[in-house]
Amino acid sequence: MAGTGKFFVGGNWKCNGTKDSISKLVSDLNSAKLEPDVDVVVAPPFVYIDQVKSSLIDRIEVSAQNSWVGKGGAFTGEISVEQLKDLGVKWVILGHSERRHVIGENDEFIGKKAAYALSEGLGVIACIGELLQEREAGKTFDVVFQQMKAFADSVPSWDNIVIAYEPVWAIGTGKVATPQQAQEVHVAVRDWLKKNVSAEVASKTRIIYGGSVNGSNCAELAKQEDIDGFLVGGASLKGPEFAVIVNSVT
Ligand code: PGA
Repeated sequence: MAGTGKFFVGGNWKCNGTKDSISKLVSDLNSAKLEPDVDVVVAPPFVYIDQVKSSLIDRIEVSAQNSWVGKGGAFTGEISVEQLKDLGVKWVILGHSERRHVIGENDEFIGKKAAYALSEGLGVIACIGELLQEREAGKTFDVVFQQMKAFADSVPSWDNIVIAYEPVWAIGTGKVATPQQAQEVHVAVRDWLKKNVSAEVASKTRIIYGGSVNGSNCAELAKQEDIDGFLVGGASLKGPEFAVIVNSVT
């Protein structure tokens, strides 16, 4: 790891689970042995946040998977940052590829959401990543730099941001990026931060990898100099496997 913060592992449960399955997952997490020097965060669906907060050990923080761009009010179906804070949520995932490409959120909107969440004291897991056709067209760096710029143009500070590089072709596909492919983009993003924000932000910001991370491939990825943790989807729904990923810190 190159970022100066702790290794960071987030579990993105997406739109999965029931009261019963989540209660089992929480109890598996509560009894798992987790490396002490790792920040561990889980992101349940909104409707189960309260259940998770009231049953999960404090050592694991809770994230939302999205938040509204400003104060709450007449915004049917949305959840405000203030409501998340009221439930004890500390983080929010913004710019996830499923929100960008399935729901249609654009860079500017995501940047504004990040700025609002940060201004209200939430940490932001800021997701970036290219589509397969963008990678094949040699546009990976253009795409991720553009997404980085949208965050940089909006956010007041980088103190509370973790960047998640998640190539879209690797998400939920079982086709993980090779350690070299991930490292290449992470180092480029860190370099972008150095040139466009500051050397200090570049060295202290954690850049985590997401996309088909599991208990078998995490150790090799974690050895890469610029991989400072993971954002895990499918494998975060299994407590023991998620613990293996948390403990892959090198
Ligand atoms: P995956 O999802 O681990 O299931 O590929 C990762 C993510 O979307 O954050």
